[in-house]
Amino acid sequence: MSSPKAFVDAIGEFEPVIGMEVHVELGTESKMFCGCPTRFGAPPNTQVCPVCLGLPGSMPVMNAAAIESIIRIGLALNCSIVEWCRMSRKNYFYPDMPKDYQISQYDEPLCVDGYLDVTVATADGPLTVRVEIERVHLEEDTGKLTHSGGSTGRIHGADHSLVDYNRAGIPLVEIVTRPVTGTGALAPEVARAYVTELRDLVRGLGVSDVKMEEGSLRCDANVSLNRPGDSLGTRSETKNVNSLRSVEQAVRSEIQRQAGVLAAGGRVVQETRHFHEDTGVTTPGRSKEQAEDYRYFPEPDLVPLAPSRAWVDELRAALPEQPSVHRARLAHTWGIGDFEMVSLVNAGVLDLVEQSVAAGLAPDAARKWWAGELTRAAGERGVDPADLPVTAQDIIRVEELIAVGALNDQLARQVFEGVIAGEGRPDEVVAARALAVVSDDGALLAAIDDALSAQPDIAEKIRGGKVQAAGAIVGAVMKATRGQADASRVRALLLERLGVEDA
Ligand code: ADP
Ligand code: MG
Ligand code: ZN
Repeated sequence: MSSPKAFVDAIGEFEPVIGMEVHVELGTESKMFCGCPTRFGAPPNTQVCPVCLGLPGSMPVMNAAAIESIIRIGLALNCSIVEWCRMSRKNYFYPDMPKDYQISQYDEPLCVDGYLDVTVATADGPLTVRVEIERVHLEEDTGKLTHSGGSTGRIHGADHSLVDYNRAGIPLVEIVTRPVTGTGALAPEVARAYVTELRDLVRGLGVSDVKMEEGSLRCDANVSLNRPGDSLGTRSETKNVNSLRSVEQAVRSEIQRQAGVLAAGGRVVQETRHFHEDTGVTTPGRSKEQAEDYRYFPEPDLVPLAPSRAWVDELRAALPEQPSVHRARLAHTWGIGDFEMVSLVNAGVLDLVEQSVAAGLAPDAARKWWAGELTRAAGERGVDPADLPVTAQDIIRVEELIAVGALNDQLARQVFEGVIAGEGRPDEVVAARALAVVSDDGALLAAIDDALSAQPDIAEKIRGGKVQAAGAIVGAVMKATRGQADASRVRALLLERLGVEDA
């Protein structure tokens, strides 16, 4: 087996090509072809009926709200809406699909030929990439299998599997891009930015809650490599990419893996791979079926779809503001430039900043915490910032405490650490960890004296006029007071104590 190449080396030798398949579970009240409810988290197999259980003789009926939603998604993605199309049967046997076929669309998708522009930050400023959309089609979701008895939750090593058909038959929209070429080292970020942008666009339409962690937005990342000038290479398709962060990581690690294979003279196998959040790498799944294996044919139990032009025009006219327009408006209101906006989007924190501002936080403070400390804390824990248990109210409270001088930035970080660790809301963390700015000069001077006598050589240097050396003593005092001192006050007191003028 070849080992993965370093990312820079992989990009130096090969051109990455990505293609994204995103599934969005629509938030309709009822399922695609029956009246069953679609509530997330209901007890297993309580939202089922003969149609979605595939019982013989049951007949599907199309959900008009789902058709409306997919047309709106297609329009927002600049697609053409076809005048006539049919559903197809995709035949395969797997226990998550009780009918042994899935009603889907194959060669007659409802929406075709669109695009979505995404912007990523580069060293030379924001770069916009047009991602072409090949098709947007409708299908039904499958049931959910739980593999028990093993340590990994995967089928390998499990001793039995449970199936929940509540999800079977929920309307699912699949959005498929054309291969995206020419993004080079930015490919992982473009993949992430695409999924982020698509999520925001779909959420803006109000047709799905698009929660990756609950599976209402799922992404498969296709990656291939070719040498410059060669035609497209063989792709792998990575599943299980359950967060924005994982989208970027999965593409990155697949580029590195394939580069290792190709550079060693091997061939990339066309297969499905699984992404592992914990290790950040992909492992092989099944080798990919060809379309012929599914024996597609037009679904005989449903009439064709033929949305009237008048209806499509009406839906087009009623589309909400596009995310890019929305962002431009926010940037203007918050007084920030393109670059800051792109960084917020790429860090996946724009929504969070917006929600915090809506809850009453000043835009600058919202940006500072979400794009700074909280993004860092999320990265350290391997989660998305949105998954941190930090609320807008928490940040508002921390800012209040800073404003009255009860906390400084360093202590505020400790407060967030506590909130994230589940120690309670900010006031509880402040109390439990006894965090408070020490503003009593007497206490600070005592700490300064301790630090000076512990490091007499440094004290000498400062007295001798080497004011830069003061940093070591200030650092020691900050450490001794567990960050509770105001560093600039400590510095002033220290220089005064030693009778030295500040430089
Ligand atoms: P399947 O269902 O077999 O995965 P789809 O047509 O649904 O096929 O999706 C294929 C995805 O793979 C599309 O997003 C397409 O852009 C992408 N793709 C196709 N060829 C390549 C390639 N050589 N490299 C990367 N992505 C590719
Ligand atoms: Mg696919
Ligand atoms: Zn049903």
